[in-house]
Amino acid sequence: MKAVNRPGGANVIEKGSYIRDILRQPVGTTVEAHGWVKTRRDSRGIHFIQMNDGSGFSDLQVVVEAGVVPAETLARVTTGACLRVCGELVASPGAGQAVELKARVIEVYGDADSATYPLQKKGHTMEFLREIAHLRARSNTFGAVFRVRNVLSAAIHRFFQERGFLYVHSPILTTSDCEGAGALFRVTTLDLMNLPRTPSGEVDTTADFFGRPAYLTVSGQLEAEIFALAFTNVYTFGPTFRAEQSNTPRHLAEFWMVEPEMAFADLDDDRRLAEEFLKYTIGAVLEEARDDLEFFNKRIDNTVLATLEHVVTSGFEHVTYTEAIRLLEQARDQGRQWEFPVHWGADLQSEHERYLTEEVFRKPVVVTDYPKEIKAFYMRLNDDGRTVRAMDVLVPRIGEIIGGSQREERYDILRERIDAQGLNADDYWWYLDLRRYGSAPHAGFGLGLERMMMYLTGMKNIRDVIPFARAPGEARF
Ligand code: ATP
Ligand code: MN
Repeated sequence: MKAVNRPGGANVIEKGSYIRDILRQPVGTTVEAHGWVKTRRDSRGIHFIQMNDGSGFSDLQVVVEAGVVPAETLARVTTGACLRVCGELVASPGAGQAVELKARVIEVYGDADSATYPLQKKGHTMEFLREIAHLRARSNTFGAVFRVRNVLSAAIHRFFQERGFLYVHSPILTTSDCEGAGALFRVTTLDLMNLPRTPSGEVDTTADFFGRPAYLTVSGQLEAEIFALAFTNVYTFGPTFRAEQSNTPRHLAEFWMVEPEMAFADLDDDRRLAEEFLKYTIGAVLEEARDDLEFFNKRIDNTVLATLEHVVTSGFEHVTYTEAIRLLEQARDQGRQWEFPVHWGADLQSEHERYLTEEVFRKPVVVTDYPKEIKAFYMRLNDDGRTVRAMDVLVPRIGEIIGGSQREERYDILRERIDAQGLNADDYWWYLDLRRYGSAPHAGFGLGLERMMMYLTGMKNIRDVIPFARAPGEARF
């Protein structure tokens, strides 16, 4: 946006300025603003219009004095309508903004029938807003959510790019269920009403598009490993899919994952990267989306700002799984009721994760070295033969936000682990090849972008931090 000084006149802002920028211009500037009407109120012949174009949290207040704009036009200025307004910035007597726009010309681009426009001033539940996902982006809450998501995404790329990590576009369609990380979505072009059959009556998958069964990816990790063993430090950042039937506020069927993978790195390096990464991206959002975070702090969860500010300045805690179990057993012995019993060998449930991070340590905690039975086959076996070099990063309010590990780089041990988990080694031939040809110690993690968004915003349901949620029975928009 450019503000130009016209000879002998006031500042003039060029066409198409963002409201965010207009609000920073001095009194006397001539501007043209575009946006959607949030509210309108009339008082003693003067009309006050709040409008927003999504560029920032603050609305532009437009003041229309009596007689300036034709009555037919004014009648069309209702909540939801889309406008172009030209005029001059004047000092605003109201609180919250330095300037307001004194209108000279209003053009209505698009009316919004006030009898049916679903997004009224206040009082909508998140559930209702999900039903109008085509309009909710214009609300205060969702405007703030998606600006934070944008700032976060850019900060993620910046973090890795500044450190020389190569961005890998891992595939979305895959023919391997390598990770076994959860239920897969099957992708097929076969005619479901008329399936080709083998002589023995099974579905003939050789007739399918790829000549074999295909799925949507659950993770880009295995492909990221291929690239780490060629480019040293890499990351993926893309959509992943899990057909999990879990109808929880923390699970989506389509979500975005950030997966760095580092060669010549062990679990300590991985843990340090995760901590640095979370601090950097949280710091960026605190700085660049301040207005939006202040809104969340005021209206959604009044602990958001304090928590985030605390995280960027304090060290993360580190405990082993074995120590974590001891703490949970100790709590039980002191009368704490666990819904899911704790004992060495059991997976940590959300209630356990949250107890550790919210009550014991009151800060992010990295839990490492889990029993091998409850973790994936590719995690590096410790010398004790019972635990693997896994780590989960737990944060207050969310529980697990990151899952990662040092990978098993030794061919023989990896092979044994594949067999022990009842997997078919032939399916992993290329993954095993990486250990036959120039293997190296390496480690990485996966961050669920929407879990991070919940942490940043205090939003309670993961469906409300992604533009268009996919969950069981939900894929309308
Ligand atoms: P959880 O136990 O919470 O289901 P997970 O152990 O299955 O998670 P991983 O396979 O380790 O998760 O995936 C890495 C990260 O991806 C998790 O730490 C989490 O942030 C995120 N994640 C996993 N499953 C989902 C999901 N269904 N929806 C949104 N984010 C998810
Ligand atoms: Mn899961």
